[in-house]
Amino acid sequence: MSIYDITVPISPASPVWPDDPPVEFSLAESMDQGGQVNVTRISMSAHTGTHVDAPHHFLNDHRTVEAMSLEVLTGPCTVIQLPDDIDEITAEVLERTPIAAGTTRLLFGTRNSRLWAKNSQEFERDFVAVTEDGAQWLVANGIRLVGVDYLSVAPFEDSGPTHTVLLQAGVVILEGLDLSKVPRGFYDLYCLPLKLVGADGAPARAILIG
Ligand SMILES: [Zn+2]
Repeated sequence: MSIYDITVPISPASPVWPDDPPVEFSLAESMDQGGQVNVTRISMSAHTGTHVDAPHHFLNDHRTVEAMSLEVLTGPCTVIQLPDDIDEITAEVLERTPIAAGTTRLLFGTRNSRLWAKNSQEFERDFVAVTEDGAQWLVANGIRLVGVDYLSVAPFEDSGPTHTVLLQAGVVILEGLDLSKVPRGFYDLYCLPLKLVGADGAPARAILIG
């Protein structure tokens, strides 16, 4: 049995979505400055690194991250590894990808996962993502949690449709995974977003056991 940490590190060097606030850590209290303890202050977007999107992110419906169901966020999970020549996860791609019947949690490893090893602060616009018809396929096939290995489930130039289809159907969106070291197969997923009251998303620690 192995534990795979599929969470990316969060630091001031983390890439962030264009125009999102950068990650900033500073010491609110510093022992080097004579303080009794070290206390780090954090400033960042709720959509930094490995994180979940709550419905409120795109639907403005006040279904926020603290109410997301742990029953969906944890449990049996399938990891698919798509070949490097796949640029978009469309309904057609999904139709010809073997996905076990009864799968409800699905993580897509793509060429995106290798971007994390570059340790680059630069946001990569040319990432593999799920198209609107891919999202419709996932909903129609009973998927309740979908995970991707870059900072958005949707193509960079067309964020709305994919997110809207998934979030309206109550599908949990898990973004910013590193699946570069995870063989395709079956695992147990533990995805635990911070319980940020009223927030449209939250960073999460995500691991696979299998
Ligand atoms: Zn997000």
